[in-house]
Amino acid sequence: MHLCARVVDLGCGSGKLLKRLLAETQFTEILGLDVSIGDLEMAAKRLRLETIPERQRIKLIQGALTYRDKRIAGFDGASLVEVIEHVDPDRLVAVERVVFEMARPGVIVVTTPNIEYNAKFESMKPGQLRHPDHRFEWTRAEFAAWATRVSEAFGYMATNSPLGPEDARLGAASQMAVFEMFA
Ligand code: SAH
Repeated sequence: MHLCARVVDLGCGSGKLLKRLLAETQFTEILGLDVSIGDLEMAAKRLRLETIPERQRIKLIQGALTYRDKRIAGFDGASLVEVIEHVDPDRLVAVERVVFEMARPGVIVVTTPNIEYNAKFESMKPGQLRHPDHRFEWTRAEFAAWATRVSEAFGYMATNSPLGPEDARLGAASQMAVFEMFA
């Protein structure tokens, strides 16, 4: 397992994970990136960025994961929590290269909804996605296949696991892949 001290939350949104990371002293440098200024403002509020004594440890920046960005290179760990499904499928390859090839952190945690679990949500119509901005949602097999392909392409090893209570047939509501760079 890589030691994570410098971490970047890619698509940090309103900063829920950043707040948890800040509470852990193991993380000496925390960066949050999002394309949405509105979300970054919410994150700054949630974290009370102006006033907290830990403000030297954390920074928020605006950026798009579809474009190469030197500011996100060289971190020990990166997370994309419920972010990839917001990216157009034909732009996803750009995000893969920006994160896995150019930013290239030691560990990358990716989570995304498990579409199989949607059958449990009675209010959803067949074929409907969970959020109007979702461009796709994947089955567990689709996500595992993506994780394998990306690992092989960029020299990582992926482990997939369910997130949340599991239904025997449908799995959990969300799913996670942890990518570790080959030494
Ligand atoms: N990770 C957060 C937010 C998830 S919502 C959480 O779990 O709460 C998805 C986020 O991804 C949104 O904040 C959206 O602005 C951001 N996002 C979508 N496409 C992006 C892109 N191409 N580059 C950077 N951020 C992006």
